[in-house]
Formats: sequence, structure tokens, C-alpha cells
Amino acid sequence: MNQKSNNQSFRDKLTTVSDDGKRVWVYAKQPKGVLYRYRQFVAYAMVIFLIFAPFLKIGGEQFILLNFLERKFVIFGIIFWPQDFHLFVMALISFIVFIVLFTVIYGRLFCGWVCPQTIFMEFIFRRIEWFIDGNSQKQRKLKEQAWNLEKISKRVVKHALFYLFALIITHSFLSYIIGINQVKELYVLGPKAHPGTFAGIMVFSGVFYFIFAWFREQVCTITCPYGRLQGVMLDTNSMIVAYDYNRGEPRNVHNNKDANADCIDCRNCVTVCPTGIDIRNGTQLECINCTACIDACNSVMTRIKKPKGLIRFASEKSIREGITHKLNARAIAYTILLAVLLGVVAFLFHIRADIETTILRAPGTLYQETEEAYTNLYNIEIVNKTRRKFPVSIKIHEGKGKLQMIGGDLCALRGELVKGMFIILIGKEELSSSKNKVPLGVYSGEELIEKVSSTFVGPNNLDTY
Ligand code: SF4
Ligand code: SF4
Repeated sequence: MNQKSNNQSFRDKLTTVSDDGKRVWVYAKQPKGVLYRYRQFVAYAMVIFLIFAPFLKIGGEQFILLNFLERKFVIFGIIFWPQDFHLFVMALISFIVFIVLFTVIYGRLFCGWVCPQTIFMEFIFRRIEWFIDGNSQKQRKLKEQAWNLEKISKRVVKHALFYLFALIITHSFLSYIIGINQVKELYVLGPKAHPGTFAGIMVFSGVFYFIFAWFREQVCTITCPYGRLQGVMLDTNSMIVAYDYNRGEPRNVHNNKDANADCIDCRNCVTVCPTGIDIRNGTQLECINCTACIDACNSVMTRIKKPKGLIRFASEKSIREGITHKLNARAIAYTILLAVLLGVVAFLFHIRADIETTILRAPGTLYQETEEAYTNLYNIEIVNKTRRKFPVSIKIHEGKGKLQMIGGDLCALRGELVKGMFIILIGKEELSSSKNKVPLGVYSGEELIEKVSSTFVGPNNLDTY
């Protein structure tokens, strides 16, 4: 908050809502500057990745696939199964903790720099608007002017392009969910074969069009839960986009060259803001840390020959005390914790087995008795998480007994679950307890691919001797 100003009335209302409750449209000026160039680089790299990643394949598998319907997940070409669910939960929890810790230390940088909503809005849809309607003044003028051929043609072309990109985004997300091959197949077979999916495409493209053509920054300022949590995550040591009121106030309203304060009240920082706020009022929930106002103010400072950084990325405490922001012990501890968390998740992913075997005694059975031996019946399930198919045989790894597969050896197909049954026989004189651990080996040919153990049960009276 700007400690040199007691006027806090801006906190009572949204800048994008007028006193009579109507929407105040944000005509943001296109930012220019070093940070904006970096943001463009990050944004276009992400857009290219988001749109083209579904076309990438590793060993025949889509690079990233999140098929919740069939519970099949592929990340960086590695297939994950429902049996890997714990890894997903760990990754999800780590991601949430990561975001919280990251925000506590580095503020809302995620929103302005990597959130897909901001990237699509600022680097695709707003760019289309600047290209067709012109800069913010021209956009305002066009809005005010009566409907004529120019206005109609501009509106038609702009909204057609908006809808085209909404469709591209929808197909892109769909490719992550059902897979790029299925999306291609949809168009080969046509809407008659998949009316539900096509209806879904129309609904979601309509939603994306509505968000980017009309709802826009309100996603960040009104609906996004992450944005709403800023109030509890940020403190005076968090890095934020901040106005240095010690340097800037009292504002040099009439650009008086003899005045000492650095802010010349040109409002360039306000006109570039995609959420329409005035950062000079202090930290606000609407600020997505896009850093556009930093670029805008730096270019003003360069022009009036003052040091850059009147608006900069700093903590509220460092601005208040007029010191350079340094990471405190808590921030360093959180950063280490972030690194540890990422390390743990990476380690769990690294040690994840390619083959997962589950062996359980057949439900409802105890043991059978023949003249010379006791037998137990087992169910086996093998998940083959690799891309190759291989024959599977089960052997007693160490110790006594004989194993007989029912229906012959199994064949674990690529990425599939194979089920089977087998019997273990242990000679009566070899069994000395009612509960015996049986170490088993899962083999592919002569190669031992996994060790598993199960229990062999015999009669209770064996324990009494
Ligand atoms: S851009 Fe800089 S100088 Fe201009 S109003 Fe904003 S803070 Fe003041
Ligand atoms: S105040 Fe600055 S950093 Fe925050 S949203 Fe506006 S332009 Fe971006």
C-alpha cells in the first residue's frame, strides 16, 4: 500500500466496474521494453509447446497424454497407469505446495508470465485486437463510432479470428485428453459418428471464445481461486511488482522540472496494465505481476533521465525501508524445500518400475490336499508399462515347492494388463507351518525382471508340532 497516501477508496471497488455496476472495458496499451521481450519469448515458446506437443511421439506414444476417461497417462513419453496413482498424487501435492511456496517468495509471477490464460489473452487475442482495431486510442474510437462498413468488417474479421483461435485451443486441449490420433479420427469419421464429442467441441470453443473475447482479465481479477488466495500468501517480504513511493511521491503532477519526486504522473504504467489498475496505489489482488508497468515506467525514467526502477520487482519491506531486497532466511528455507520436493518427485519417477506384478491367493480359497502335497491357487496380474511385448513365466525363486501355470505362460503386451492363474504345490513333508512365505521370480525368458513374494497356507495343525 502507498504509505504516503491515505486515500484507500480504490480498495472499495474494482477498477473494471463502474459506480453504477457496469463493466469498464480495459483498453490496454501494448507494452514495450526488455521485460516484455522476455515475456514474448516465454509466451510464444509455451504456445508452440502447448499446440504442438500432442503431435510429438516417443516410441509410438504421445509426448503428453492425460486421458482421464481411460485412465491412461503419458508424460514425456513414459506411460503411467492407475497403479502409478500414488506418483500422480505426490506430483499434484508437490505442485500445489510448490505454487504456494513460490508465491510466498516470488509473488504472483506465475500469473503474468506462464499462466495459459494470460499468455493466450495477452499474446494472441490482444495482439489480434491491436493488429485489427489499432492501438488503445483507436480501439476506444472504434467502440464509440457508429456502425459503418469499417466497423462491421473489423468486428467480423476480429471475432472470426477469435473464434478460430478458440477452436485451436479447444482441439489442443482435446488432443491432450483423448490423444491426437483420436482427434484426427473424429474428422475422418465426421460428426455423425461422434455427435457427443463434436457437441463438446462446440461448447468448449464457445467457452474459450467467451473468455477471451469478452470475459478477459476478469478471469484473473474475479474468478481465479489462485488470485483470490494472494491475500493470505503474500507478506511484506514477498517479491511483488511494487511502486517506490519514497522516490515517486508526492507526484510531480505538472511535470515540474524543479520538483524532486520521480513520478511525473504520466499514467503510462496505468495505460499498459491489462487489469486496469494503478500500481501506485500499492499491492492489489488484481495485479498479475505481468511487469508491463515496469517496462512502461522504465522508459519514462530513461526519457526524463532518472534512474530506472521507480516501479520494480521488490518486496514491500525493501521499498518501505529503502533497501535492496535480499532473500531472508525463510525465503531461502522455502527455496531449499522447493528443491527437495522436486527432488523427491523426480526420484520417485526415476525408481518407478516398468513391470508391476500383483500376486494374490485366489479369493475364498485356502489350500487343497492331495496324497503327497498341499496346493494353493493364485491370481496374477502383470502391468507392462514398457513399449515392448514379452512372454512372462513365474518361477519359485528360492526354496521348496513346484509352480504350475494354468493355461500356459503369459504374454505381457505393450502397455497392457495381463491376468493369469497358477498353482503352487508343496510336498507334505516339506511344509512345517500353516503360513509360509514363497519368494517368486517373474521371468522373461531367462531374465529375472521382478521379485515378488506371496503366502502359502497349509493346515493349522502343522503349527502345533
Ligand atoms: S509510469 Fe512511472 S512516472 Fe509515469 S505515472 Fe507511472 S510511476 Fe509515475
Ligand atoms: S500493475 Fe503492473 S504488473 Fe500488475 S498487472 Fe498491472 S501492469 Fe501488470
